[in-house]
Amino acid sequence: MDKTSPLLPEIPSPAYICPFDQACSYLDAAAKELKLDQGVLEILSNPRKVVTVSIPVKRDSGEIQILAGHRVQHCNVLGPHKGGIRFHPAVTLREVSALAMLMTWKCALLGIPYGGAKGGIAINPKSYSINELERISRRYISELIKDIGPSVDIPAPDMGTSAREMAWMMDTYSVNIGHAVPGVVTGKPLSIGGSLGREMATGRGVMIIVREALKDKGKSLEGTRIAIQGFGNVGGAAAELLHQAGAKIIAVSTGSGGIFAENGLDIPQLKAYQKENNRKISGFSKTQPISNAELLTLPCDVLIPAALENQITQKNADRIQANIIAEAANGPVTLEANLSLEARGVTVLPDILSNAGGVVVSYLEWVQGLSYLFWDEEKVNGEMENLMVQAYRKVMQQSQERKISPRLAAYVLGVGRVAQALKDRGLYP
Ligand code: NAD
Repeated sequence: MDKTSPLLPEIPSPAYICPFDQACSYLDAAAKELKLDQGVLEILSNPRKVVTVSIPVKRDSGEIQILAGHRVQHCNVLGPHKGGIRFHPAVTLREVSALAMLMTWKCALLGIPYGGAKGGIAINPKSYSINELERISRRYISELIKDIGPSVDIPAPDMGTSAREMAWMMDTYSVNIGHAVPGVVTGKPLSIGGSLGREMATGRGVMIIVREALKDKGKSLEGTRIAIQGFGNVGGAAAELLHQAGAKIIAVSTGSGGIFAENGLDIPQLKAYQKENNRKISGFSKTQPISNAELLTLPCDVLIPAALENQITQKNADRIQANIIAEAANGPVTLEANLSLEARGVTVLPDILSNAGGVVVSYLEWVQGLSYLFWDEEKVNGEMENLMVQAYRKVMQQSQERKISPRLAAYVLGVGRVAQALKDRGLYP
């Protein structure tokens, strides 16, 4: 099924697995369940605005290179657009469009007044100096200056970008507008209006969702055996908080492989080891090396894929031994694998719920920026926890009432809220 959109380029080859098609198939399934009007489905299947800008960048050598910068705004029915900016070689307009659509459903599911957006530049940031990255970030945002703003579209960090890039982007926007505008981006450094709790937010959200899912099964985090693929921002924070809550983290991994400890890893010590060893985790004491593929099929209670998409597929779904999978990464379980896991009674907690802690705290950062009133970490974490727990409860209730998977239930809630708002607002003109 190839979705065509007048704003997106043609699919390059029949073998290409199009992320935008995949995003549309989730939307189609939710639309079917909701018996959505065809016209409404057509509107939601298309991004509202697709912008590609040319970014001429002067390399440190003096050479001029032209980059393409994308920003896709999927839907602004519920509020301003919101979504990260990715610097990664695999960025394409179709991938950015798919991620923008997922952001719409994620924000609607969490009940935060945003519509989805995403941006990206197809570069490997490691191939550029800090000065070059600053010039790229500033030119990208200045080319988009009329398309972003605190009530229009609010970027955030994503793969390959961080608080540093957000500070450059906030400064570029503010200098052009003539005054400081903290609400134009989130994920900023604390010194310019960033929020306490933002760094750990996505991992904290994962911990909360896993804790609630265990509670529903009459269990607690205490002693629960958990394997985590990816030990970066999300996987590392989730590991730390789950370990603090008494769970046994039996394995973690990075791109170069994983480590396993039958009785659980000492996560604070592992983090200190990783810091001292140039981000390496291999060789940590009293652990055995394992591959990323082995980690996924370990005997454990909870599996948290927190690295890349398409990690659990039809090829390995039958060998997964966990009873609960929490999708901390975006799209780590394929549609087909999800079906066979559900058939075996495995609970798959979908990405738009499990990894929503980051966008929730981004929203709280934006609220603080607009009101110029800044909160302590306890208040930020408490507000986030309320929104995450409410969303989890609604997803599970919807899943039981409609006898559908938690994934489809999450989409039904997200898509349903946007569709209702679209109907209530009506179509202009
Ligand atoms: P990160 O770059 O900080 O960490 C990624 C981790 O995955 C690293 O430990 C890396 O070594 C590891 N990794 C890379 N390739 C791997 C491979 N082939 N096998 C196993 N591990 C591998 O990124 P992050 O911010 O932690 O994001 C991880 C995922 O979570 C991404 O899918 C991202 O889109 C998603 N996500 C992140 C946030 C956020 O707030 N950071 C929010 C929502 C979703």
